[in-house]
Amino acid sequence: MIEKITDIFKSKEKTFSFEFFPPKTPKGVENLYKTIADLNELGPDFVSVTYGAGGSSRGATMDICSEIQKRHSVPVMHHFTCVGHSQKELLSIIGQMKERNIKNILALRGDTPQGIDDWKPAEDELEYCYQLNDLIRSTYGDFFSIGVAGFPEGHINCPDKATDSKYLKMKIDHGGEFVATQLFFDNSVYSEYLDRLNSVDVNVRVIPGILPITSYEGLIKFCNICGTSITEEIHDIFKPLSGDDDATREAGIDFAVKQCNDLLKRGAPGIHFFSLNKVEPTKEIWKRLGL
Ligand SMILES: Cc1cc2nc3c(=O)[nH]c(=O)nc-3n(C[C@H](O)[C@H](O)[C@H](O)COP(=O)(O)OP(=O)(O)OC[C@H]3O[C@@H](n4cnc5c(N)ncnc54)[C@H](O)[C@@H]3O)c2cc1C
Repeated sequence: MIEKITDIFKSKEKTFSFEFFPPKTPKGVENLYKTIADLNELGPDFVSVTYGAGGSSRGATMDICSEIQKRHSVPVMHHFTCVGHSQKELLSIIGQMKERNIKNILALRGDTPQGIDDWKPAEDELEYCYQLNDLIRSTYGDFFSIGVAGFPEGHINCPDKATDSKYLKMKIDHGGEFVATQLFFDNSVYSEYLDRLNSVDVNVRVIPGILPITSYEGLIKFCNICGTSITEEIHDIFKPLSGDDDATREAGIDFAVKQCNDLLKRGAPGIHFFSLNKVEPTKEIWKRLGL
């Protein structure tokens, strides 16, 4: 039976999960299923599939989620952004998730269209993630477990960290049940984030998102978009390796193992790995963590 993530929490103090994104070609999708089969042997508590991120097709997410659950019986969390969908469309998609036995949603606003500074939703659209949580809860009650995104350094468009915590609390008060974080490289940032959330009475699990670094240039590009700070330590390790894929992958594994061990010592309730649809780095990190 496919479980809700919040039910898994009842018996597991820590969860370990993998994130995938829908490839753009049918061959890519077949390769992804092979990757998932390989990583699923490790026994993740759940896996997740992104929605529309990086320009991937939105419709592919549900097909992939459904297929993973059918093939491997592992619970899947369907990322779901409300930006650009009418409420009618949102409800129709959520209804299809229910029909396909998908019980876990990572509810997101999504990024607003590029180059439009004063974006406002159309009349029948939603503006923020907490409104999507309301829509899911008011229509489907407790059928779904709802996770939300958290930003240990504050969301890139949020004026300050205190306001960011206030908005995170709204997402929880409106039905969010746990948090999956954006990537970060300085663990004290995670601990400070937990303190800020505790101070506004957010006491749900905050699962850190960990990226195994496989490319220095790619990392810089991605962090520029999402607002994650790249520490001096990261520059010092990875800049000299730039262009050497094998050495970068090895250093990325070493760094992630060190970061995860420290997070788990700090009491993190598990790890969500941004697997980037690759088997090797995540598998090796998993092994070295002794999971
Ligand atoms: C783990 C994780 C997975 C992700 N997966 C995807 C994915 O699959 N697809 C994808 O497209 N994107 C994904 N994202 C990125 C995410 O969609 C973007 O970061 C997006 O800009 C914010 O989404 P949100 O749900 O946090 O939005 P919200 O919580 O709605 O926040 C959006 C902005 O509005 C502000 N805000 C929130 N509430 C209020 C309020 N009440 N009043 C005024 N301002 C407010 C916030 O400070 C923020 O600046 C992911 C992010 C993370 C951390």
